[in-house]
Amino acid sequence: MGVNLKEIDGIKIQLKHLASCHCGFVKFELDLPDGLIDLRRCDCSLCRRRGAIAASVSLDGINVLEGQEHLKLYQFNTNTAKHYFCGNCGIYTHHQRRSNPTQYGFNVVCLEGVNPLKVGGVPTYNGGNHPADRG
Ligand SMILES: [Zn+2]
Repeated sequence: MGVNLKEIDGIKIQLKHLASCHCGFVKFELDLPDGLIDLRRCDCSLCRRRGAIAASVSLDGINVLEGQEHLKLYQFNTNTAKHYFCGNCGIYTHHQRRSNPTQYGFNVVCLEGVNPLKVGGVPTYNGGNHPADRG
C-alpha cells in the first residue's frame, strides 16, 4: 500500500545503501535492489510519536556494519514486533514487523545522502487499527 521509489530528488537509491543513526555509533547497510519499497508512515502509538518514514527490506537485507552493541530493543503490547534504536542518540533504525515478520521496516530518514522528507504523498498505514489487535 506504500509507495515505491528508485530515487529521491534525483538522487538514486543505491543497491547497497548506507544508513546511520544520528550520533554515528550505529552504521548499517541496506540491500535495496529495487529501491525503496512500500514507503509509508504509520499511525500506531509508537510510530506516530517517533514520526519516522519506514520502508521494507527482507530480514537478510540489513547488515549492521558498526555499533551492534549500541542497538537497544524496545517491545510493547503483544511483544511481537522488535523495535531497534541507538542507545546513545535514541534514533530508531529498524524493526522486525508484527504485520509481516519476514520483513524489517527501516527508518528511511537514516539513509545517507537523500532527504526522504521531500517525498510527498507518503501514505499513512493504519497501524493504530492493527489486524492482530482485532477480534
Ligand atoms: Zn546513535
